[in-house]
Amino acid sequence: MDVKQITDILFEKGDIEDKYLKKLIESEESMEYLFKKADEKRREIYSDKVYLRGLIEISSYCKNNCLYCGIRASNKNSKRFRLEKEEILSCARHGYETGFRTFVLQGGEDGFYDDDYLSDVVSSLKKEFPECAVTLSLGERSEESYKTLKRAGADRYLLRHETGDKDHYESLHPKNMSFENRIECLVNLKKTGYQTGSGFMVGTPGQTTETLIKDLRLLQKLQPEMIGIGPFIPHRDTPFKNEEAGNLELTLKMIAILRLMFPYALIPSTTALATLDKKGRIKGLLAGANVVMPNLSPKDARENYNLYDNKAHLGAESIEGIGELREEIENAGYRISWERGDALTKQKTDGNLKT
Ligand code: SAH
Repeated sequence: MDVKQITDILFEKGDIEDKYLKKLIESEESMEYLFKKADEKRREIYSDKVYLRGLIEISSYCKNNCLYCGIRASNKNSKRFRLEKEEILSCARHGYETGFRTFVLQGGEDGFYDDDYLSDVVSSLKKEFPECAVTLSLGERSEESYKTLKRAGADRYLLRHETGDKDHYESLHPKNMSFENRIECLVNLKKTGYQTGSGFMVGTPGQTTETLIKDLRLLQKLQPEMIGIGPFIPHRDTPFKNEEAGNLELTLKMIAILRLMFPYALIPSTTALATLDKKGRIKGLLAGANVVMPNLSPKDARENYNLYDNKAHLGAESIEGIGELREEIENAGYRISWERGDALTKQKTDGNLKT
């Protein structure tokens, strides 16, 4: 089978055997046809809408030591910050006035935010902005904690699995973190009723076609509503400082494959993609992504939430650049949707297309 035939089967059936996925992932041919079919699938389900999420980076303190991440605990050069409740609310207010209806609170695993504190933040957000979705992205917590935060009003949770291969996972993380726990957290999030997001980096050291296929197979088991992927980008103060960044084409190809395998997923065109390539954000949308997450964090936070070197946080990547972003999106043939943008299911699709 050639790349075109493989793409057609993925388009029709949403799945294909490993050996063909391998062929597609490893092919050096142009992927224009794959991108075109991914775009067609995205339009079939989500039309030309691009959903916005306002990203609030709440803390760069982290107890973990993920080998790839710039805010790892042992990075002494990282300038740490954390936002308190009022600062988070004020970012959200600013975002709300601009039109955002989803707020994503992301941060390192920072013990400051215990369940009481976070529940108060979440319920205050939901009280002031009842029609908005609150998404958390604060790493691994206990099942009890996920339940408590859900009760406080959190709607969604993002926790990337990072890689679908246990040995690979262990090579990217310190000994006290485990692949099993990561998966258990994801299962618990689903069970608790969150719209759950998972995903992985493209091009981490040790990644192979086989581990990428495992990523896809794991996602098929988890069935997350959201799937975020982006290229690995080295950070100068991490053990991976001399490693190569992930490849743009491969990242786009994986986005397109995800769109065909998970037609209903909300897939962001990520900041890492926009950092790797000036046109990365748009290329991601053209390959099947349908979400962007502009930064609403205060300036100080943005400058110090450095997961990787040169992380984009200005222009169309930020709330100030919303005009620029709109222009980019419209020039590419899409339009911004200011809706909350929950994941659609088969039953809900028809309604969406009529709006
Ligand atoms: N502590 C939270 C949030 C992590 S930051 C959590 O564990 O989920 C969000 C994502 O950024 C991570 O899941 C990871 O996939 C990505 N990331 C971290 N370091 C990166 C790097 N060097 N290059 C690209 N992406 C990175």
